[in-house]
Amino acid sequence: MQLVLATSNQGKLREFSQFFGEKLLPYSDIIPSFEIVEDGDSFAANALIKARAIYDRLDKDAVVIADDSGISVPLLSGEPGIYSARYAGINASDKDNLNKLIAFIKAKGMKRMPAYYTAALALVCSEGEFVVHGWMHGDVIDEARGEGGFGYDPMFIPESYERTLGELSGEIKSAFSHRTKALRLMQPILNMIKEKR
Ligand code: IMP
Repeated sequence: MQLVLATSNQGKLREFSQFFGEKLLPYSDIIPSFEIVEDGDSFAANALIKARAIYDRLDKDAVVIADDSGISVPLLSGEPGIYSARYAGINASDKDNLNKLIAFIKAKGMKRMPAYYTAALALVCSEGEFVVHGWMHGDVIDEARGEGGFGYDPMFIPESYERTLGELSGEIKSAFSHRTKALRLMQPILNMIKEKR
């Protein structure tokens, strides 16, 4: 059984392989990488779009896993949400995106606002399609603190903590992150598929 991840991102590849205790293949090791238009209206829809697009091009014994994630601020109408990776523009860096969100919070005259990260994981294989979610709740603040993590982490304080994910260790984050929670829900689905084959 070929377990394939719908990304070439080395960080995600390592994280997923570590979690499942086996090596996942980036899809670009099997077929040439191609552009996938993520035009779904939810994290789940976009994860499914990615997993289906790759599954369609592979041998039918492949099991394809894709993820889509981002941060949402309810007081800003859910922004940046599914646009998290390109909030400040198509070629924006993580830093540009973070600075744009900080500017928005300041423009509202606020110092912090409730926010949550979402991770959707989709699995597509001959047995069917499966989607799970994980969430991490907390607050976003009007400044970046710490060098750890990536993306919006330096401005995100998880619930019941006082420091940002930029200041907290990676171990703390991965103990309760949105991605970890989604991966925990995906594990029994993967086990079920393996047992069935
Ligand atoms: P994806 O790779 O298309 O799922 O885009 C995820 C985007 O959401 C990233 O570019 C980050 O901006 C943001 N994001 C998702 N998860 C995290 C996280 O754990 N920390 C910080 N930013 C995140």
